[in-house]
Amino acid sequence: MFELPEWTFEFHGHRCPFMPIGYRMGSLALEKLGVDKSLNHEIHVFSEMGVVHPQGCMQDGIMAATGATFGKGMIERLNYGKVAAIFWIPEHKYSIRIALKNEFQNKLAPHDFFKYRKQGIEPTEIPEDIRTDIINIVLNANDDELFNVTFIPNYKFIPVKSSFNKAKCESCGEYVFERYLRVKDGKKVCIPCSERESEETVVHLPKIIR
Ligand SMILES: [Zn+2]
Ligand SMILES: [Zn+2]
Repeated sequence: MFELPEWTFEFHGHRCPFMPIGYRMGSLALEKLGVDKSLNHEIHVFSEMGVVHPQGCMQDGIMAATGATFGKGMIERLNYGKVAAIFWIPEHKYSIRIALKNEFQNKLAPHDFFKYRKQGIEPTEIPEDIRTDIINIVLNANDDELFNVTFIPNYKFIPVKSSFNKAKCESCGEYVFERYLRVKDGKKVCIPCSERESEETVVHLPKIIR
């Protein structure tokens, strides 16, 4: 049975089957690439998952296993709505794409765990034995049952160069990293200031799209 460190569940917040799938996906990628967990900025992950996709939990597992975190800017979401990810290391001979097999997704689908989830019941509210059972299905499966692994030669990606240069927005006065400055009416301004009409109040919040 695959062993999952307890801190990964604490980090994720609840016990569900998807964070463990992501952890296994990340562990397998490291093994296939022949590298250790990234402490700095070595491995890049391109997650093919989408937003509010139920399998989004997997990304926490991928981050925990590989060290490629959103905070370090090492994982990006491609929003394809697929349970797959590409693992890329600069100058490495090859990259790896790992996808969760349709057959395994079909095997999990009828589980009671989803009867609760479909009623809108949160994972922490689902009976413990049901959750343990579905997690054990994931941990007892072998890599072959779980994943399709593809080797990709010469995957091309040019990472954004890191820069510590920042400047003040000429409208709101807050610091902005230079790459994000925009020019509006001849002034260098931040993105929220560049988008507002002159009479509007500046609110530095993400736009809510409905
Ligand atoms: Zn989860
Ligand atoms: Zn501004």
